[in-house]
Amino acid sequence: MKDAKQIIENYKAEYQQYLGNVPDYVMENDEAGFYERLGFATIDESVLAVEYKFAYTSGGGLVQRSFTVPMTEETIAELIKILESKLTTKAFAKEQRTLMTKKLREFIKQRDHFTCCNCGNSTAVEPNLLLEIDHIIPASKGGRTTEDNLQTLCWKCNRAKSNKIIS
Ligand SMILES: [Zn+2]
Repeated sequence: MKDAKQIIENYKAEYQQYLGNVPDYVMENDEAGFYERLGFATIDESVLAVEYKFAYTSGGGLVQRSFTVPMTEETIAELIKILESKLTTKAFAKEQRTLMTKKLREFIKQRDHFTCCNCGNSTAVEPNLLLEIDHIIPASKGGRTTEDNLQTLCWKCNRAKSNKIIS
């Protein structure tokens, strides 16, 4: 839009030199009309600016909140950046999960002597204890599926840990 407006402004300036002296009262009282009759449309940029309105109403309808974000060049660039980083993080986390093989799980459990790295409970003490492999730094936070980022946790400690991350 800005470019289009600039092109029209340039044409206007070019025409100006052929127009000679336009009486002052024409320009003072009806500049837009004058240019319109010459074939120049008036562009009002503010009318064309897109806004995105976010609105929230609580279940009971008691709380209402809304805010408006003008979709300027800067806002759109920022939005693209955020969306791109989310896509990348998601793809990375997915990739890390596929790297978690059965063989690797078994290797980590053996390395940790079938013992929970958090509470110390083990299958030696509790034969039916369910042991799980945990990403010390979660994949969603950039943690890799590598031996140094994996640990054995009992299912209870693993649940407690993921609850903590969510809240
Ligand atoms: Zn535990």
